[in-house]
Amino acid sequence: MKLIFAFGALAIVSLYIWPYSLGHDKFSLRFKYLLAFLYLTAIFFSFVSFSDGWLVRNVYSSTNVVLGEFFHFYAIYLTILIIGLLFFIFYAYKHADFSLKQKILLSVIGFSLFILTLLTVSLILPSFGYYDLAILDSSCTLIFIGFTGYAIVSKELFDTKVLLTEAAVFIVMIALFLLLISSQNPQDWILRGIIFLLSVYGGYLIIKSVHVEINKNEQLKDLTQQLAQANAHLQDLDKMKTEFVSLASHELLTPVSAIEGYLSMILDEKIVPVADLKLKEYLDRVYGSAKRLARLIADMLNISRIEEGRLLVEKKETDLGELVKDVIAELKFKSEERQQKIVFDTPETFQSFADPDKIKEIIINLVGNSIKYSAKPGTIHIGIQAVPTQTVKDFWDKMEAEAKKRPLDEQEAISSTVNGFYRQFVGDEQYLIQVKDEGIGIPKEELPKLFKKFHRVGDFTTAESQGTGLGLYISKALVELHHGRIWVDSKGHDKGSTFTFTLPLLKAKEEIIKVEDNIPKKGDMKPLAKPMTAAEEI
Ligand code: ADP
Repeated sequence: MKLIFAFGALAIVSLYIWPYSLGHDKFSLRFKYLLAFLYLTAIFFSFVSFSDGWLVRNVYSSTNVVLGEFFHFYAIYLTILIIGLLFFIFYAYKHADFSLKQKILLSVIGFSLFILTLLTVSLILPSFGYYDLAILDSSCTLIFIGFTGYAIVSKELFDTKVLLTEAAVFIVMIALFLLLISSQNPQDWILRGIIFLLSVYGGYLIIKSVHVEINKNEQLKDLTQQLAQANAHLQDLDKMKTEFVSLASHELLTPVSAIEGYLSMILDEKIVPVADLKLKEYLDRVYGSAKRLARLIADMLNISRIEEGRLLVEKKETDLGELVKDVIAELKFKSEERQQKIVFDTPETFQSFADPDKIKEIIINLVGNSIKYSAKPGTIHIGIQAVPTQTVKDFWDKMEAEAKKRPLDEQEAISSTVNGFYRQFVGDEQYLIQVKDEGIGIPKEELPKLFKKFHRVGDFTTAESQGTGLGLYISKALVELHHGRIWVDSKGHDKGSTFTFTLPLLKAKEEIIKVEDNIPKKGDMKPLAKPMTAAEEI
């Protein structure tokens, strides 16, 4: 009895090393002091327990012990030690990273199983008069050692569920083993032996499959990490590309504008007359190409400004009807040339809170496309009406849900090009601006890709007309900068197309300002590079 008391406290103090050493390679000075202090107190009690009569006065049998005066202090000391240990384990667990948490948990499970088995064989069973298994008390330690050993050598474990599964398997094994060795007759031995062996095999399969799962998960984690790195790298590259395009376009625009300007002067014949007709024709072609080049460069510049979030948007009270009328007037010549009648007659005003230059650019682009992609004489209808925002929202949610089922590059056509904050719908109502033509139409399979950068329908009619495939991409970004959406519908080839975009009403001005106050703006915001003139679009 004296020995038990003498070593009890020492054993518990030693347990403090266990949660600590799972997470540390070396003992810190603070921990050393703590251990030294605890060991000193434990050694003190060891001496006390050996002093006659202090802790144990007399022992008649294992159940009949007369305790000494000092025993209460010892009991209090042990209780404090154990509570301290529990706190210490809890503290270590709380501050541990994922893998250490698993290890601590594993050790705690092992320890609890050990104590449970120990209590069962040496206390609970004997109290029912069953002493046969009491000899197992020392061997129970193996459970604790086994679990802790496993915790130390195991790699990162998958999750708590895995640990609990394994613990459950072990508990069943131990229970069945105890049952086996408590067999009273040969039949019991055989029957319980078979059950035990079968369950060992079953347990082995369960644990094996759990580990296969862990390995798979680890592989998956590695792959995910690699993928995340690759993604970050791609994003960096994409940023570099945008910066490069921005810089290059900026540098290119100056000389090209000079070429364009001088050619225009020569063709005006203000300085010298161009007598040779052939020469004039060639110069005309060069001039046309220079203009297209300048347009393309300006588009690239606009795109990089939009993508970098540096496009200056100056919203103010804007009448959409007036803008449409302006565009129609500007395009009159081109539309008559291609025998396209443009219809827009509505006496109403449609006040929006928007940047008129940007909205004009969108309308020029859409109406220009309608003229450009109409092979036969026809009519282009432009309409504006206010609809509930909820209707647009529902419609768009459906579009997005459908887009998610499509390949990534097609989803691009619907995903946001600008800062996600602008995607927020504002106000109860939205203006729906529609441009409907009777032109060459768009095949169904092309519809989801139309708003992608550089996308052009690979049709010979399209190929004939000049274009870059950037107009709709820019229009989409501009619409989005106004909290709107843009989409297209067409019944198919030769059946015309309808382009629709939405804009908020002037009523939503306050809300727009509030939403946009939270959007981070880049320092040097720039206007659109050379807004498109109506004549240029076609
Ligand atoms: P661009 O006109 O410079 O090619 P856009 O981005 O404006 O570029 O248009 C992209 C493509 O969408 C066009 O090349 C054309 O194939 C198709 N498209 C646009 N508008 C229409 C329309 N109204 N009718 C038929 N096809 C159109």
